[in-house]
Amino acid sequence: MKQETTYDAIVIGSGMTGGWAAKELTEKGLKTLVLEAGRPIVPEEDYVEHVPPWEMRFRGMRDRRKQREDQPIQGTCYACDEWSAKFFVSDKENPYTTAPGKPFRWIRGRQVGGRSIMWGRQVYRWSDLDFEANLRQGIAIDWPIRYADIAPWYDYVEDFIGITGEALGLPQLPDSKFLPPMELNCAEITVRDAIAKHFGGERVLTIGRAAILTKAHGGRAACHYCGPCERGCITRSYFSSVNATLPAAEKTGRMTLRPHSVVHSLIFDAKARRVSGVRVLDAQTRAPLEFHGKVVFLCASALESVRILFNSSTPEFSTGLANSSGELGHNVMDHVKAGGATAIIPGHDDRFVLGRRPNGIYVPRFRNVKTKQAEFLRGYGLQGGAHRESWQRGIAQPGFGPEFKKATSQPGPWQFTFSGFGECLPNHDNFVELDKDKVDAWGIPVLKIHSSWGENELALRKDMSIAAAEMLAAAGARDIQPFADDEPPGFSIHEMGTARMGRDPKTSVLNSYNQAHDVKNLFITDGGAMVSSSCVNPSLTYMALTARACDYAVEQMKRGEI
Ligand SMILES: Cc1cc2nc3c(=O)[nH]c(=O)nc-3n(C[C@H](O)[C@H](O)[C@H](O)COP(=O)(O)OP(=O)(O)OC[C@H]3O[C@@H](n4cnc5c(N)ncnc54)[C@H](O)[C@@H]3O)c2cc1C
Ligand code: SF4
Repeated sequence: MKQETTYDAIVIGSGMTGGWAAKELTEKGLKTLVLEAGRPIVPEEDYVEHVPPWEMRFRGMRDRRKQREDQPIQGTCYACDEWSAKFFVSDKENPYTTAPGKPFRWIRGRQVGGRSIMWGRQVYRWSDLDFEANLRQGIAIDWPIRYADIAPWYDYVEDFIGITGEALGLPQLPDSKFLPPMELNCAEITVRDAIAKHFGGERVLTIGRAAILTKAHGGRAACHYCGPCERGCITRSYFSSVNATLPAAEKTGRMTLRPHSVVHSLIFDAKARRVSGVRVLDAQTRAPLEFHGKVVFLCASALESVRILFNSSTPEFSTGLANSSGELGHNVMDHVKAGGATAIIPGHDDRFVLGRRPNGIYVPRFRNVKTKQAEFLRGYGLQGGAHRESWQRGIAQPGFGPEFKKATSQPGPWQFTFSGFGECLPNHDNFVELDKDKVDAWGIPVLKIHSSWGENELALRKDMSIAAAEMLAAAGARDIQPFADDEPPGFSIHEMGTARMGRDPKTSVLNSYNQAHDVKNLFITDGGAMVSSSCVNPSLTYMALTARACDYAVEQMKRGEI
């Protein structure tokens, strides 16, 4: 069965970036088709943030057998619990392979809204320290943009999504347009003050910057601190595509959202040198379909978008559509984490917290900002926070009877954790390719991922544990336990870099507006476009780049250039 409607624009994926492309393109007047591989989401039925454990079949302890069989990879993510496992892919239906000795944990969501439903909502701007780093250090290629190019688009995106946070005026971490900050708790204030006193202003602890509303904004309600945001949010208080951008696109009357639409490949018109349409498999019926559009936005996530381009190869682009540079699929990055420290903060025994603040603390990057480190390039930020140990700590204690009951009913001490996210250097040898021997549940060839940490990432991870322990010691903490665990790439869920931007078509896939050098009506605005990784959570930058690319594409269409 073929479909012949021609749309002004086709957006592939409805997650963080696809939602933004849908909103911007429809608001600018384009009749837009959004193709989403996964199922639709109905907040009233799918969101489960208020369901208590005793209403869950396994009381929140998960169906471990099902998880082992169906989600052995997804189940390793902290957010994939009994409630929210349904927002993560089936590993059985969506396999991938890795090179021997190079594990990679690929955490994915396949539904309307993608991973914007389960994300951690931490949002930080990049600075020129990030955009200029490759050039200054002679690594990979230079970014074709600077902070000044993207700053107005950060403003634009932040005005819409709503961000809580504290302005600090730091050059390495520009302030966003903030709603009121959430409060630090007493133990976090102790650590913040000790850091300010002992590190001469070089290190700063602040409340996390998060895409959560601390007051009503844009028709969405303020957060009521129920806590488990990865299960959805019926008051739409945190930003997701389902909560904000897709409704905005829907409101224009120009969006056609088609769930259960697995994009197989793009149709390339070699004569016109344009993408003329998209080949789709209906996820339920498996019927092949075709849709046609004047411009195509690939927003299927950094690795999935590249997989679609590999599956769209033509005689001219035999290694993947728009890959004349040979860089498509290369330079895979993810933030290095699993370095930090935990400790007990003594005191405050008469204090407790009210509500479940859905946010932690942040220590912005301080390495290689003012002073140079000999052991590594670039830096990391530390996330984490303090909480009072609950009755659940008692489960692990020996004993029974009244004494045991009494012990478990008392809150424990204040526990503090610092956990780093470090910059990953772009490296041509970290790459993905098609695994010709394996297909997914729809018969589409899957990716083989070749990725491992380099020496710089490992040095950063080690330093995170040292610096975290230093700050806890300065705060008078006890039982300080530094950690630097051997976690593989992928687990920060910030995979990026597979279709990088650049000035030179010989060394990059996209130009400075996310437009493919080789195919003018093709844009890739997910994490694939990144030229380096900074150390901050990336989604805010993906959203800003998407809005900027949409603006450019529509202007180019008006001028008849596309
Ligand atoms: C638990 C968790 C915590 C996170 N925390 C943070 C955080 O605090 N801050 C931050 O910045 N980032 C965070 N992230 C990462 C963030 O979610 C991603 O960076 C972001 O969602 C990427 O946006 P995207 O549009 O590229 O991809 P997604 O949001 O993953 O959307 C991609 C969409 O494309 C669809 N798709 C894929 N293939 C096809 C196909 N062939 N055909 C049709 N549709 C397709 C998918 O079904 C999906 O809906 C977190 C992620 C997770 C899972
Ligand atoms: S904590 Fe706030 S943002 Fe999170 S689900 Fe509850 S109301 Fe929504």
